[in-house]
Amino acid sequence: MTTTAQNSACDLILFGTKGDLARRKLLPAMYQLEKADLLCAESRIIGVARDDMSSEAYAELVLTNLNKFLKEPLDTAVWQRLQQKLVYVQLDLANEQDYNKLTAVADITKRVPVSYFATPPSLFGVICKGLAAAGLAAEPARVVLEKPIGHDLASSQVINDQVAEFFKESQIYRIDHYLGKETVLNLLALRFANAIFAGNWDHNSIDHVQITVAEEVGVEGRWSYYDDAGQMRDMVQNHLLQVLTLIAMEPPARLDADSIRDEKLKVLKALRRIDISNIQEKTVRGQYANGFVAGKAAPGYLEEEGARPNSKTETFVALKVDIDNWRWAGVPFYLRTGKRMAAKLSEVVICFKPQPHNIFHATYSQLPANKLIIRLQPDEGVEIQVLNKIPGLGEHMRLQESKLDLSFDETFKSQRIADAYERLLLEAMLGNQYLFVRRDEVEHAWKWVDGILEAWKTSNEPPKSYQAGSWGPVSAISLLARDDRNWE
Ligand code: NDP
Repeated sequence: MTTTAQNSACDLILFGTKGDLARRKLLPAMYQLEKADLLCAESRIIGVARDDMSSEAYAELVLTNLNKFLKEPLDTAVWQRLQQKLVYVQLDLANEQDYNKLTAVADITKRVPVSYFATPPSLFGVICKGLAAAGLAAEPARVVLEKPIGHDLASSQVINDQVAEFFKESQIYRIDHYLGKETVLNLLALRFANAIFAGNWDHNSIDHVQITVAEEVGVEGRWSYYDDAGQMRDMVQNHLLQVLTLIAMEPPARLDADSIRDEKLKVLKALRRIDISNIQEKTVRGQYANGFVAGKAAPGYLEEEGARPNSKTETFVALKVDIDNWRWAGVPFYLRTGKRMAAKLSEVVICFKPQPHNIFHATYSQLPANKLIIRLQPDEGVEIQVLNKIPGLGEHMRLQESKLDLSFDETFKSQRIADAYERLLLEAMLGNQYLFVRRDEVEHAWKWVDGILEAWKTSNEPPKSYQAGSWGPVSAISLLARDDRNWE
């Protein structure tokens, strides 16, 4: 799990190199790795697309994209080093012979081929076949798969089977970019390096957990794609469930890929099924109507460009999730995620149980409980809400809720916070799988999500409307209010 410059040399074969993900995230991430001196001098980035183009023209294209998407001025010395690593290969993905063009530039005697599929998943199978035909699938070759791995359990199994025909599980790196986020990784440090949390991380001390992933943006010109998926498939099946597993899992024996993934899998297996019998009690699905987000007028989901009338796709989901195991008995996990919400915010709130006895009646008839707030983005950090004595003289001891606030920005001023894709690309090139999702995790997550999607379909209720710029439908508030709780 070390991240050193002495990593093994790779041929990073970037399928879909002209696409949005590669331009906005992957190539800027490679630039940052080069800048941090984390790319081996012998490594190559082999961009693959259908257009005919020289490697020089490809380099120009990459440069234009870097200038557009880097959040800092381009460092010419770094660019010159990166440029030397760029090669372009024009390929018809369906033509097996074409993959020999890759063999001509990739050198398996010197570099490990790491193929990154930034393409629609419907192409994963055909690309794997082509790579195998060209001799680029045998160990130690690796493949990195972008989400979505399928639309449901059945389709994810088809994709996983197609890839498994040519690559072993130990060669497959499934991306969930949340696992590359500094703050998500810090969940492991927080939980397993700190006795004050490790000893209080169960139903004895914790009342409930809230996970929120809220976006201000809408569908961003991808209405059709999004409408086929919806928020449940797009966000819950992957990102929210991954965060949930990291919070809920048992301590792994070691910090290695299978120790961690074995524990995450146990959590996924322990999720109580939601079906038609409890769908009303456990779920809320919403769709945004027009409103105002960050002071600007925003159209409703059905008024977005390319929208079809009468779509019932959800843009908001709230869930009450029960984990049926010893640690979490009676501790609900409330999840909510939506588009066009009041703020861009991802956070986890661990709400502890209140003290069993109150001796501070002068201030509180009921003592507020401690909260641990883990801000995943923006303004990354960790905050603990505690009760503190208000300084001063007086007859009564008076208390106030106060914060112990660890802002990453302030605490680690000199440290740049790396983008998730930088870490994930680096770990894939180093051959570390611990931040990638194993096949059984993906499939168990789908199995659970499929139950909810099926129940929604059977109940045939339209999504509840919520105003763009709000925190979702009123029933999301009722979901907690029924349990005498509220969203933090
Ligand atoms: P784009 O549509 O922007 O790019 C996809 C790329 O795939 C194109 O460059 C295109 O290559 C190639 N492609 C598409 N169809 C074919 C085909 N039939 N034959 C050969 N090549 C084809 O998609 P994105 O970059 O946005 O996304 C890529 C993948 O990553 C998708 O699966 C997406 O769901 C996933 N993803 C994207 C995210 C994002 O932020 N964009 C975030 C998370 C996941 P060519 O240039 O040759 O046409």
